[in-house]
Amino acid sequence: MKKVTKTAALVLAMAMVISTLTACGDDSGATTDAAVTDEAAANDTADTADADEAADTDAAQGTVTKTEGVMTFGTNAEFPPFEFVAGTGVIDQYDGIDMAIAKQIAEENGMTAAIENMEFDSLLIALQNGQIDAVIAGMTVTEERKEAVDFSTPYYTATQVMIVKEDSDIAAAADMADKKICVIQGYTGEVCVNDMGYPYEAFKKGTEAVMELVNGKCDVVVIDSATAQKYVNDNEGLKIVEDAAAFEAEEYAIAVRKGNTELLDMINTAIDAKLADGTISELGVKYTEEITAE
Ligand code: GLN
Repeated sequence: MKKVTKTAALVLAMAMVISTLTACGDDSGATTDAAVTDEAAANDTADTADADEAADTDAAQGTVTKTEGVMTFGTNAEFPPFEFVAGTGVIDQYDGIDMAIAKQIAEENGMTAAIENMEFDSLLIALQNGQIDAVIAGMTVTEERKEAVDFSTPYYTATQVMIVKEDSDIAAAADMADKKICVIQGYTGEVCVNDMGYPYEAFKKGTEAVMELVNGKCDVVVIDSATAQKYVNDNEGLKIVEDAAAFEAEEYAIAVRKGNTELLDMINTAIDAKLADGTISELGVKYTEEITAE
C-alpha cells in the first residue's frame, strides 16, 4: 500500500517538471552557494583560462569533453535514489536515477560515461576547473548557481521536507524555531533553513545527519523529498513532515560550464526525449521500488 503511494508520488513528481525556480535559495545566503558564486566571480578570468587549458591539454581541439569520446560527470554518490554506491552500478560502482540518465546521454551521443565522485560542495568548482564535463547530482537550479554554470532542461521536481521522529510535535517549518536542526552542507536545504534565520548544524552526508536524528542529538533533518523517503524507509521510528508553503518546488538539472553549448545541446536533446517518452519516469519508479524493497 505504502509502496504504491510512494511510487505514484514519484511518478507525479517526475511528470511535473514545472518552470518555477527554486525554493528558498534565490536571494540568499547559503554559505556554500555564495562561496561558489563569489569564487566564480572573483576568478572569472582565471576560471575561463583554466577551462581552456584543460580542454587544450586533455582533449583534441574541437571536442566538447575533456577526453574525446568520454563524458565525465561529477556527482556526490550520497544521494539515493539519484546516486549511491552499489555492489554493481550502472556506471562502475555508481547506481541510481542520475547515473542511468548520465549513461544513456553519453551512449546516445556515441560516447561512454565516466563518473568522478566528490563532495557536493566541490562539484561546481571542479566543473569550472575543467576536471569534469558536467554535474549530475540531483542538483537544484538556483539563481546563485546559474551565475556560475549553465543548466540543462530540468528533469525532476522535488521539494525540501523535514524528517522527524514519529512522535515529534513538528508539524510545519515554523515549528523548527526552537528545535535543533540538521542540514547537509551545501544542499538547498541548508539555504532554506539559513533563509528562515534558524540556527542549524551542517553535516557532510545525509546519513550522518539522519544518525544524529536517530540518536536523539537533533530534532529535525531538512533534505530533499525522495532522499528523505529513503532514509525514513531505512530507519525505524522516523516520519516525513511537509510544508509546501515554506518549501517551494525545486528543479533538478545537469550543469555544464558556461558557454559549452555543444555539450548542453547534446544533453538537452537526450533529456527532452527521455521526459517525452517516459524513460525518466520509469527510472524513478525502478529506483524507488528498489529502495522500498530493501
Ligand atoms: N537538491 C539539493 C541541492 O541541489 C541536494 C542535492 C544533492 O545532495 N545531491 O542542493
